[in-house]
Amino acid sequence: MSTFDFDLFVIGGGSGGVRAARMAAQRGARVALAETLGEEGLGGTCVNVGCIPKKLYSYAAHYHAAFSEAAGYGWELASPPRLDWATLKANRAREISRLNGVYDNLLRGSGVTVFHGFARIDSAHDITLATLHADGSPGHQTLTAANILIATGGTPHVPHFSGREHVITSNEVFDLEPFPQRLLIVGGGYIACEFASIFNGLGARVVQLYRGEQVLRGFDDEIRHFVATEMRKSGVDLRLNAGVVDIRKTADGLRAELEDGNVVLADAVLYATGRQPNVQGLGLDKVGVTQGAQGEVIVNGHYQTNVPSIWAVGDVTNRVQLTPVALGEAMVVVDQLFGPAAGRAARQMSYEYIPTAVFTHPNIGTVGLTEAQARERFGAVTVFRSEFKALRHTLSGSSERTLMKLVVDTASDRVVGLHMVGADAGEIVQGFAVAMKAGATKAVFDSTIGIHPTAAEEFVTMREPVRS
Ligand code: FAD
Ligand code: NDP
Repeated sequence: MSTFDFDLFVIGGGSGGVRAARMAAQRGARVALAETLGEEGLGGTCVNVGCIPKKLYSYAAHYHAAFSEAAGYGWELASPPRLDWATLKANRAREISRLNGVYDNLLRGSGVTVFHGFARIDSAHDITLATLHADGSPGHQTLTAANILIATGGTPHVPHFSGREHVITSNEVFDLEPFPQRLLIVGGGYIACEFASIFNGLGARVVQLYRGEQVLRGFDDEIRHFVATEMRKSGVDLRLNAGVVDIRKTADGLRAELEDGNVVLADAVLYATGRQPNVQGLGLDKVGVTQGAQGEVIVNGHYQTNVPSIWAVGDVTNRVQLTPVALGEAMVVVDQLFGPAAGRAARQMSYEYIPTAVFTHPNIGTVGLTEAQARERFGAVTVFRSEFKALRHTLSGSSERTLMKLVVDTASDRVVGLHMVGADAGEIVQGFAVAMKAGATKAVFDSTIGIHPTAAEEFVTMREPVRS
């Protein structure tokens, strides 16, 4: 019998932490989880201020286009639709709170001891939990564990500049009051592009500034240009090679002076300039856990830090910041520490062919290598490309176009990159990711029967390469 209070102490109740705690407890381990925000924080970034509320707002924004497109299908709206922002916010908050409760039940139902408090690591096996007493006064508790899992996630990073105090981040954007009729967004990554589309769809006038040549660095170049064009067509005022010098509060709203001398007036300024690992106050220095330049926890291929009893998964390791990746990493740790689920092999994690979607309007869905990466890795590649107006828009009046692209390693015929900009790209690409992980060749794609009439069938009907 272990002399520790717990077999596993998980710090952080987000995607990675909840999954690890729940699965370890189901394997019979004695598990505790600390979440600094208490039950309201359970689910972490994804549930509270990330994937879920973002996708709900994206659905809300899609109605805007749907209302105007409905006329082509014979629908007459009795009066012009208007957004009740308060209703959207309240309904989102209710759903998130339901999910917090679901996570709490899942954890407690699996036998996890859930602590409401900020955890600090004091030594390889000791944790101090800063809590509040029932009367609100601060207290603390010391606990021991055979293993400690750091799953504390990340937090938005805003660079230093004059007027920084006037800007908000994705943490605040969901509850803005009042609705920002004029929104300035800085950044060109996932969050900046998604919220530019969302608030544009909800009816705001959106200006998006990106410091480089094209948004979404790291994505396939054609996809980046295509989505930027579609976002502009839908109304986003996207300005490239642009940045803010200074932001001031004026009677007309926030006045942002740009590097090119232009001025943008806005009701809110959203900085979406990346995220940094949540390690402040965690005690990593004291325990000697190795950290990287951004403070991220350095782990080996087994998610173990240089202190053998301390492990880390998810955004705090600053690698691939996606919920399903944090979940996969958590499962690997649990299987290593407590054995795989009955009848299953121990889970492995691979960073190849991770599918991802950017919920811009239209969406991006992508898996595998960009064309440039594939050329660098394989030399000879064959590229198939299809660009078209989706059937739905033949009557809707929308000028939105869809792009689909396959990148094939010419020597092996294996499809090594699959990219799409178009409606439901995330839904479509998920299934193709399975085929690509299984090593599907272009010949397999060609021999697959399409589902007609869909956009997705284009992926199995592209016959003529555009480049090779
Ligand atoms: P988190 O989910 O951030 O959880 C960490 C938890 O630890 C937090 O609840 C925090 O309060 C708690 N904590 C921190 N320090 C302590 C401490 N010392 N003691 C106790 N508790 C502590 N990913 C996708 O796959 N799809 C998407 O569509 C998507 N959309 C996103 C949209 C936005 C706006 C953002 C910001 C992120 C989005 N992500 C998306 C990324 C995804 O949310 C993260 O990759 C994921 O949440 C990481 O999980 P995690 O467990 O590492 O950390
Ligand atoms: P990203 O790293 O995706 O993008 C950050 C953006 O900010 C980049 O365009 C970057 O430019 C720019 N930037 C960085 N520093 C500065 C600066 N000092 N001044 C001006 N611009 C700057 O981060 P996000 O915050 O958008 O999102 C964080 C992560 O969360 C994502 O990487 C993703 O993993 C995850 N996420 C996933 C989503 C999904 O799955 N749909 C949705 C939202 C988030 P440059 O490229 O030039 O460096």
